[in-house]
Amino acid sequence: MERLMIKNILYGGSPGQKVSVCGWVRTKRESKGFAFIALNDGSTQELLQLVVPGASPAFRELPQCNTGAAIRAEGVLKESPGKGQKLEVEVSGIEVFGGADPAAYPLQKKGHTLEFLREIGHLRSRTNTFGAVFRLRNILAAAVHEFFQDRGFVWVHTPIITAGDCEGAGELFTVTGLDFGKLPRNNGGNVDFSQDFFGKRTFLTVSGQLEAEFLAMSLGNVYTFGPTFRAENSNTSRHLSEFWMVEPEMAFADLKDDMSLAEDFLKFLCRRALERGEHELSFLEAQYKRTSLDELRTLSEAPFSRITYTAAVAELEKAKEKFDFPVEWGLDLQSEHERYLTDTVFRGPVIVTDYPKEIKAFYMKLNPDEKTVAAMDVLAPKIGEIIGGSQREERLDVLEARMRQAGVPGEGLQWYLDLRRFGSAPHAGFGLGFERLVQYITGMANIRDVIPCPRAPQTIGF
Ligand code: ATP
Ligand code: MN
Repeated sequence: MERLMIKNILYGGSPGQKVSVCGWVRTKRESKGFAFIALNDGSTQELLQLVVPGASPAFRELPQCNTGAAIRAEGVLKESPGKGQKLEVEVSGIEVFGGADPAAYPLQKKGHTLEFLREIGHLRSRTNTFGAVFRLRNILAAAVHEFFQDRGFVWVHTPIITAGDCEGAGELFTVTGLDFGKLPRNNGGNVDFSQDFFGKRTFLTVSGQLEAEFLAMSLGNVYTFGPTFRAENSNTSRHLSEFWMVEPEMAFADLKDDMSLAEDFLKFLCRRALERGEHELSFLEAQYKRTSLDELRTLSEAPFSRITYTAAVAELEKAKEKFDFPVEWGLDLQSEHERYLTDTVFRGPVIVTDYPKEIKAFYMKLNPDEKTVAAMDVLAPKIGEIIGGSQREERLDVLEARMRQAGVPGEGLQWYLDLRRFGSAPHAGFGLGFERLVQYITGMANIRDVIPCPRAPQTIGF
């Protein structure tokens, strides 16, 4: 008999139907000549109740059906007299694929801490929490493509290995084929990367934006969705060393278009999560009380607040709250400032625009005041920055001047300047940190709990 998924059984099955189901045992108990097994197969939050009559030959397999064991059960669907489930399986046969020694299986008791579960990263996805988070992650990833595909954006694949630390977005990991036992040196005693695999020093990418720009300047509207890497030593609850970024880039667009896209995008993602992950969201809301379904519903409808950096600094200066970091025009907003704006001032997402040019990347379009750039950050409650974007500088002379001021070397970026020489046009885009989005939607406090294998300083266990 073909294996059915528990999700399909619970939502599409009917009494009397013969089923075959596979999964991992959550609990087993015996009472009045029956055994009851709660089974999960990862397809849904819910468990399927298996009822094994004492007279059934399947009963002989029960000693091996401990928590964690992988089994197949065959039987007939019955209406369930129990609370909380419509259907259960009256089992006629059980096949045990792999048992689990109850003395050794780490997921015996309920209520493990998230910290403990991080130490068993290969098993934590069997828990309700991580099953919910990873299914929501999938729903959101699919919705990212749906959103852009429906609007005619072309998904482009930008490289993971790059030759330039051009963007200045963060510290880079070096990629090398050199033998560390005998590193070639030049006259100055430095490593001679001209003898390396690509003939120059190469890195893991911190962003696909620069490449997305040339693709936008030919295909119109594009987006990337792929892994990015940052070697910063930031041990925070919102930074990973390897994370996924979504980066749309639009030709013939300005900062207003960019903000509208970002807002529509986040709202769409919230709606999809609510529509397709309601069980998961309800479970996480009840369990952690961080993101509520109501909050997500509001977010998917109410307009985002907007404020300029200059006005935001004025808000922060008159705040009664004591901040750890100084507030002053010209300094970057720290996450405590961002959270004050979202959680206290606006009580919802807010888009901050027009930052001082000194604290933003060289490619952002210089505003007429020549002090600020056409940048925008979307700040989400409890998380802070979730999206960073800008209109790009399309004027060659202004861009070159900005590069000189910022100390960005021109060589290696000639192709980028070419885009301003041949058919330059206004264009804009942003980067959404996918894990920050998943954090925001699921309410998970630590970014390490929304990606299956988190990479962070000194952390690469799984
Ligand atoms: P932050 O100031 O929060 O460190 P950033 O300004 O350095 O972020 P950008 O270079 O603007 O980040 O990257 C675009 C988006 O990628 C950010 O808005 C954020 O959502 C996400 N992001 C950046 N760094 C990380 C990281 N280390 N781990 C996870 N997501 C990140
Ligand atoms: Mn940013």
